[in-house]
Amino acid sequence: MTDNRHIFLHLARMGGSEMHYIEEAFATNWVAPLGPNVEAFEKSLEQYYPSRHAAVLSSGTAAIHLALVMLGVKAGDEVIVQSFTFCATANPITYLGAKPVFVDSEPNTWNISPTLLRQAIEDRISRTGRKPKAIIAVDLYGMPAKWDEIEDIASSYGIPLIEDSAEAMGSRYKGKKCGCFGKYGILSFNGNKIITTSGGGALLCNTQEEKEKAVFYSTQAREKADYYQHEEIGYNYRMSNICAGIGRGQMEVLEKHLAHHKTLHNLYCKAFKDINGISVHSNPDSRFDSNYWLTNILIDKEKCCKDCTQVMHHLAKSGIESRRLWKPMHMQPVYADAPAYTDGTAERIFDKGLCLPSGPCVSIEDAEFVVKTIKDFLS
Ligand SMILES: *Cc1c(COP(=O)(O)O)cnc(C)c1O
Repeated sequence: MTDNRHIFLHLARMGGSEMHYIEEAFATNWVAPLGPNVEAFEKSLEQYYPSRHAAVLSSGTAAIHLALVMLGVKAGDEVIVQSFTFCATANPITYLGAKPVFVDSEPNTWNISPTLLRQAIEDRISRTGRKPKAIIAVDLYGMPAKWDEIEDIASSYGIPLIEDSAEAMGSRYKGKKCGCFGKYGILSFNGNKIITTSGGGALLCNTQEEKEKAVFYSTQAREKADYYQHEEIGYNYRMSNICAGIGRGQMEVLEKHLAHHKTLHNLYCKAFKDINGISVHSNPDSRFDSNYWLTNILIDKEKCCKDCTQVMHHLAKSGIESRRLWKPMHMQPVYADAPAYTDGTAERIFDKGLCLPSGPCVSIEDAEFVVKTIKDFLS
């Protein structure tokens, strides 16, 4: 063991052919936006998600924003959103002048609670006389949400559903890939996600028409005319041909990355099995197949005599990066005024949880060092 090692939470790892696609773009002068890599990357995503049509964009945040635009969300509308998530799930609602309504998680998946979701919809209808315009549910840390129940509720009220699967590429619920639930699915290719384009995202649609509409909005909503004609407000959200080249190369190592995330999760599970007070967040039952984007542990302060922040600071001293869980949106000062339907679940998980190094650059030896450092600290 060297003492100057540094283990990061999640670094990107290139597969090998990314540079080839980038050089090809340079050689053929396709450096400017759009070009053959964009089309080819979309095609390979559509092979991976046969039920979807993919529009690749500049970020996952942009994909969520466009999904809301496509659903006609306007100023003053309410959108229901999972509170326990990264801020990018909720912020696009406010870009449109609409209002987020936060719903708490249930303890098995850490994702939106079907019970509270139903309560929230009923209560918003009785208070405002209107249905929420959309629902955004998340596959947090790669763990699939309870999609059967969530889809049933959304369709029984006729409210369109968006799946934020930014962290869940390769995860499955009852055999179906995450990203394929609801009307729109969202992917992120940010630097720390399952695959990366340095920065990027995708909107997964059910029809070619919807995909074309998303591309239209992502390229400044330019109408078909001999001059620049604009009848709607558009955005500059299309992925560049260079980024798409990285994406093409990353698709070739996707399965390898996914296998590595699971290997690390298994290692952490075995290592912490005999530690009273540490539990590893894992698939609740056989319906759920998480990609384990990040492996998370819950630390019971009563039993461990240390809390998650103390463990995090101790790991940092040993050159190991760990991270607290996402702080729920209903606890964020910026969203203090938003309605929230909560029962304390996300808050409890947030208080105890820690994300451990999990990416493709974390070796087995690295993970063993993380485990040893935690065990030594607690004993
Ligand atoms: C990363 C992430 C996003 C946003 O993706 P970007 O590509 O970073 O804009 C959205 N939702 C969740 C849950 C994420 O983790």
